[in-house]
Amino acid sequence: MNALFDLRGKSAIVTGAGRGIGRSIAIGIAQAGADVTLCSRTETELASLAAEIERFGRRALVVPCDVTKAEEVQHVIDMTKNEFGRIDILINNAGITKKTPAEDYELEDWNRIIAVNLTGVFLFAQYAGREMIKQGGGRIINISSVASQTAVTGSVAYCASKGGVNMITKVLAVEWAKYGVQVNGIAPSYFETPLVKQIKDTREGFAEQIAARTPLGRMGHPDELVGAAVFLASDASSYISGETIFVDGGWVAVGL
Ligand code: NDP
Repeated sequence: MNALFDLRGKSAIVTGAGRGIGRSIAIGIAQAGADVTLCSRTETELASLAAEIERFGRRALVVPCDVTKAEEVQHVIDMTKNEFGRIDILINNAGITKKTPAEDYELEDWNRIIAVNLTGVFLFAQYAGREMIKQGGGRIINISSVASQTAVTGSVAYCASKGGVNMITKVLAVEWAKYGVQVNGIAPSYFETPLVKQIKDTREGFAEQIAARTPLGRMGHPDELVGAAVFLASDASSYISGETIFVDGGWVAVGL
């Protein structure tokens, strides 16, 4: 491993680690050397991931948590500090969506999506950030989306939440630079995960539509987000903060 990308001796928290993108990133940063706290609401998924991570010699701590509940977020922080002594990296990944035309969007769905995708990201960043400030540094990586920049029909709450995530990234990067805390984001396009499978299964031709719209001609695989995550978590990105990297097969570059 090139020393620039080496995460040995670091501890990380990954939210929404049980499946999809969070799972791939948790494995990827553990393979780069980090010990990892895994959280989401489904303990069985986290336990199987922890076993996988421990098989290649890293430590994994399972702490079930709903990112919308402040006391549960604090519990994850406390458990991680107890187990690993510090928090070097936060991957703020948990997220949900629901597709409904804007004129029919239920307030309950709007509130739930904003609570998980936006408030949950802020809460985790704030609680982990407080520890990082005390430690004198850390890395926060917020998982955004191309939907933060380009409209996705039927997804008004999701797009609003991800646009907000990009601004949380910028504001925290600016406020916390003086404490050595770097805050960046990763904005994926469409990746083959359980979240996207749910859309694919209910919309005929969806996968083909995505492939046709994407310059690289296909959806991404969650493992293709690991490079950006390790980069932003490591010394290789020591002078980058407030940035959101689009890992999108060229999605947002498309004009006509
Ligand atoms: P999945 O639905 O496959 O996984 C989501 C993860 O988040 C699960 O582990 C889920 O676990 C967890 N989660 C959901 N709600 C909560 C909650 N309230 N508290 C804690 N954990 C929660 O999604 P993806 O892997 O596809 O997406 C991951 C992130 O990437 C999201 O932020 C998403 O918006 C973003 N993204 C995904 C894209 C894609 O194409 N897949 C594209 C662009 C962005 P559990 O339900 O057990 O709590």
